[in-house]
Amino acid sequence: MEYLAPTSIVEALRSLHQHRGSARVLAGGTSVLPALNDTSTALAGGDKQSGSAPVLIDIKRLAELRSVTVLADGALILGAAVTCQEASSHPAIQKSWQGLAEALAATGPAQIRSRATIGGKLCQAASTADAAAALMAIDACCRVVSVSGERLIPVSELILSPGRTCLRTDELLVSIELPAPCAGTADAYARVASRSSLGKTYAGVAVALTLKDDRIDSCRVALAAVTLVPALAERAASMLIGNRLEADVLARFRRQVAGACRGGTDSMQTADHKAHVASELAISAARTAWQRSVISRSGDSG
Ligand SMILES: Cc1cc2nc3c(=O)[nH]c(=O)nc-3n(C[C@H](O)[C@H](O)[C@H](O)COP(=O)(O)OP(=O)(O)OC[C@H]3O[C@@H](n4cnc5c(N)ncnc54)[C@H](O)[C@@H]3O)c2cc1C
Repeated sequence: MEYLAPTSIVEALRSLHQHRGSARVLAGGTSVLPALNDTSTALAGGDKQSGSAPVLIDIKRLAELRSVTVLADGALILGAAVTCQEASSHPAIQKSWQGLAEALAATGPAQIRSRATIGGKLCQAASTADAAAALMAIDACCRVVSVSGERLIPVSELILSPGRTCLRTDELLVSIELPAPCAGTADAYARVASRSSLGKTYAGVAVALTLKDDRIDSCRVALAAVTLVPALAERAASMLIGNRLEADVLARFRRQVAGACRGGTDSMQTADHKAHVASELAISAARTAWQRSVISRSGDSG
């Protein structure tokens, strides 16, 4: 096995291109390194196919991937190798994207959060990716680069299936771009952990909404751990648009969330229970996002 630690993005991209097929990006390593110890993993399988030794490309020395930049309009560029702990405690994220901060704080126990990166979280493409759901709800985008150019991919289009993203093997996720927050907009994340010692997410729901004239003007809802991979629940979100959080609206919203929960588990019984839990979490997240939107709007007018 070869270990490379590039100090510039150009160097990292050249290495990824040169070792295409056998290269693996190493970010926090909380998922890649355990895989290296298991010869039956996809990593070993991939190497057998390419016939070459695996090459680990450590991205933690890339300054651009380790930085958080707040732009003049309030939009935020989150480097892909920023840890979930650093991101969840960043003042701008805590102020403008409280739901994202909540989801990042759920990325495993403290030891894992201080290693695991936001980019690793997305590229691992796990069903339980709390932060992926929160980023989908706020309509964040991924900036992805390779030797042949760059592209912007909405987080909601990045993850294709468990363990699989739309990234090519020579592409590097460089940053995640959070749109500028506007008055009356807020997000929230509600989650229940499994009872196992690992405490992984059992069900999670992210809601981002904008209030206008005391009604919900726009809304995005995303689910974690209750679908094969984190995904938007667009029909559920549409139940809230144009409305207040009144009982009949919430009842329709609850049903749509439950209906969107598919594939997060093999067992029918657990699937039903997860759908029930997710629909309750969705109500809670929607109410919290509403309250935060009211505060965000009044803060702006004051
Ligand atoms: C006990 C435990 C409990 C956990 N519980 C939860 C939980 O409840 N919720 C949750 O959301 N997470 C949880 N996690 C964290 C999660 O499962 C992953 O371990 C973590 O998010 C991976 O991040 P990393 O930076 O360590 O990625 P790595 O292990 O370094 O990489 C993961 C994958 O992404 C690729 N990759 C990484 N960065 C990039 C990049 N910039 N560009 C292209 N490809 C890249 C790697 O090649 C690899 O395929 C838990 C982890 C553990 C160990």
